Order: sequence, then C-alpha cells, then structure tokens
Amino acid sequence: MSIAISPEVAERLRGFEAPERLGFGSVMAPVMFRAVYQDGCWSGGELIPYGPLQIDPAAKVLHYAQTCFEGMKAYRRVDGSIGLFRPEKNARRMAYSARRLCMPEIPEGMFLEAVRCVTAYCAYLIPAASGESLYLRPLLIGTQPDLSVSASNIYEFYVIASPSEAYHSGNMRVWIERDDTRAALGGTGDAKVGGNYAASLQSVAQLKARGYDQSLWLSPSDRKQIEELSGMNFFAVIDGQLHTPKLSGSILEGVTRDSLIELAGTLGYRVHEREMDIDDLLALIGSGTCSEAFACGTAAIISPISVIGDAGHSVSLPQVPGPVSTALRSALLDIQEGRAEDPFGWMQQV
Ligand code: PMP
Repeated sequence: MSIAISPEVAERLRGFEAPERLGFGSVMAPVMFRAVYQDGCWSGGELIPYGPLQIDPAAKVLHYAQTCFEGMKAYRRVDGSIGLFRPEKNARRMAYSARRLCMPEIPEGMFLEAVRCVTAYCAYLIPAASGESLYLRPLLIGTQPDLSVSASNIYEFYVIASPSEAYHSGNMRVWIERDDTRAALGGTGDAKVGGNYAASLQSVAQLKARGYDQSLWLSPSDRKQIEELSGMNFFAVIDGQLHTPKLSGSILEGVTRDSLIELAGTLGYRVHEREMDIDDLLALIGSGTCSEAFACGTAAIISPISVIGDAGHSVSLPQVPGPVSTALRSALLDIQEGRAEDPFGWMQQV
C-alpha cells in the first residue's frame, strides 16, 4: 500500500475485537480514509482512527445536502485472497453524483487507492462465510461553514468500512407508491445522493405500518412506469425472460443490475431493458405469465419479491424464490467469492 499508517492507527487495528454478531452495516472497522479538498485541490489522503467528525453547524452539507456516497463490497475468496467487485464502476458513479451536486470529483486513482487501502488494512476483519463481506461506504461532503445557498469550497472524502454478515431481506413484500415519487424529472434520481433517500423514508414508514417492506417507485412523469425500490433495482421474469426498467434518468444505474444483465446472457436468459407499465405487470402476474420478481443491489445481491401490494388489491408472485433469480444469485456470488471463473474480469484483487 502506498498509504502508510501511523502508530496510532496500527494500535487501533491491533486492538479491535469484532463482536460475535455482526449484522449488516452496524459494526464499523476501527480505521477510515480521509482526504480534504481545499483551494481547488485534494490533499493526498490518510488512514485515521474511526471516530466522530468535527463539523461546523453551518457546514453546507447540513443545510443544502451536498453529500453523495457509494456502497460496495470486498469479499474473502475461497483461495484466501481478497477481492473488490467492480470498484471502478463505483468510482465513476461517485464522480457522476459529485458533478450532479456541483462537488469536485474524486479522482478515480484516489478513490480506488482509498478503497484498496481500507480493504487491505481491514482484511483480517472480513468474515469467511458465504455472503459475508466488508461493506465499504465512500462518502463526500461539502463542509464550508457558510449559510449562503451555493456550492461549498471545502470538501471531505471518507471511506468507512463495516464487516458484515449476509444481508437478509427475506422475501420482500413491496407496495406500489402511487402518490409520492423518490426522484423528480430532471432531478437527482440517477445520482447516489443523500436527498433521494431522505425523500423515500416517509413512504417506507407508512407502508411498514401496513405490513410491507419496501416501496416500489413509479416514474415521476406519469406514475405508470416501474422505476426501482429505494435502494435496489427491479427485475421481473416474464415467459422465462428477464425484464427490467430501462434507465430513465431518474433510476440509479446499479452495479448489480448491470452485472446481472451481462451474466444473464451467459446463462441463456434474454434480457429486455424497457419501459414497464405497472398495471400491465400486475395483469401478467395475475395470469401467471410473470412467474418471478426480484430486487437487486450490492447489499442483498438478489431479494425475491413475494407480494406486490396496491391500494385496491395485492398480487402474489407464483415462485419465491424462483429458479431464475436463484440461478443468477449463485452465479454472481460464485464469481465474487472465487468459486467460478470470472470471464468478465470483474474482481480486483487487493
Ligand atoms: N437503486 C438505488 C436507489 C440504490 O440505492 C441502490 C444501491 N446502491 C441500487 C439501486 C443498487 O445499486 P448497486 O447494485 O450498485 O448496489
């Protein structure tokens, strides 16, 4: 690693004891990467002890939400090596998100080096069971203390990490959100920015009270086309073929979505990226033509959907989990965990 560590950081790494139950995203690694942008350039970056930030209450991020982030994983592979999954995709998406919020891009080299550095020093924390990983969360915030509505001229970039168990979302019951939208036309839906998640929380809180797990968001233009879930993309299996909403400008382009589209081809499934009308899909589920639906993302990989709820009635998916989502999940996890060849060159050894 070209990033050296201080004796304090080395001590933190040595003294860390992971609790028996890790859960997902709740146990934090004892160190984090930090770099600062000021006067138009980035500092080199360093590994520091994990801990609370000191932030001015007037910092722009706290008022005007100048913040974007990423979610990615490092895996312990069956040969003992540690691999990152397509980290350059996250670097590029974060650069896009930063540009959208008028924040400076993190140079791809610095992003990758930061993620590799945190992964390498925290490799001993990565649990060994299948589905377990080191979940990495790069974060960019505008910290200039100034209440005028304008872009910050100071930024901080962090990479924190969380050794995590498999993320079990179970069989999800999703509710069609016909009133709110998570993203506006011309808004920030295709960027990974904090405000999108804040905008989704009220809907999710309301549907939980009705016994559902996640909102299924529709297009902001006409509220007819399926977009995605609050933190995952959407797929349906219709007549044995995969269908997923095409990128609309308000959907986040998931790394898992992209990977499943490529992988599905090699498993012999046709994939259609297209506009997906929610009422047509409900009819196809009703007639049995649509046999499976699932959500996908870095955390859960694939979560089968058991029920799609709507104000009038709910429909149940016939196959939960179905054969297509099960095959895709194992094929992807086999590449990530080193049980299968990696024909796409997705894994980067740390
Ligand atoms: N949509 C949204 C809104 C998300 O937050 C995520 C998680 N990053 C995804 C889709 C899935 O993206 P990925 O496969 O890159 O994790």
